[in-house]
Amino acid sequence: MIAENIHTVEERILAACKRSGRSRKEITLIAVSKTMPVSLIEEAIATGITQFGENRIQELCEKIEQLTEPLHWHMIGHLQRNKVKYIIGKTELIHSVDSFRLAEQLQEEASKLNTICDILLEVNMSGETSKFGLAPKDVLDLVKKISHFTNVRLRGLMTVAPFTNIPEENRYVFHNMQQLSVDIAEKNIDNVCMDLLSMGMTGDYEVAIEEGATHIRVGTGIFGVR
Ligand SMILES: *Cc1c(COP(=O)(O)O)cnc(C)c1O
Repeated sequence: MIAENIHTVEERILAACKRSGRSRKEITLIAVSKTMPVSLIEEAIATGITQFGENRIQELCEKIEQLTEPLHWHMIGHLQRNKVKYIIGKTELIHSVDSFRLAEQLQEEASKLNTICDILLEVNMSGETSKFGLAPKDVLDLVKKISHFTNVRLRGLMTVAPFTNIPEENRYVFHNMQQLSVDIAEKNIDNVCMDLLSMGMTGDYEVAIEEGATHIRVGTGIFGVR
């Protein structure tokens, strides 16, 4: 079942890459395993998936302990400052940084462990009031502040687009994210790298790839309805 789903997702990723003249190697597929049992994650691992996304610290930590394979974990959910210490050194990438105070906490904990923490800034590009993330106009300011940190490395941007049954409706969101990323990259700020763009979920990852996503986060399309 999961193997079949992953096969379908892979075919769609390839088609989207072809349409947009991109290489499959530019795209990282993150299997979003939140709420899913370890047994289903094992099924995905058996098909070759190694990148997983979780949105709660406790669940993430439990799964990291239960799974002994060398996997890459992505924190994609809202993060509380007092819980940062539990995941430093365990994640490939934290996608959901949206305040200076949170970045500062990550810097403090990462420096205690003498490690580097790779992060993305979460942007609320659509302006939906229900969403976490920075307003686009506030991103550059935070980028500049984070650039002074020695143990937090900014790698790019992330967004959660509005829920829709019509993926084309989110094209402008992805397009604007790509544009924002290019605008910031062009400022050539020391220690700031804008090479990653995390956008696109089950309903719209193909459009996101066409608009420049490097990381897509697919839950339902792989594990079924939560
Ligand atoms: C749950 C979640 C996803 C995956 O959503 P699906 O629609 O199931 O693919 C992606 N990104 C974030 C931030 C999520 O919380």
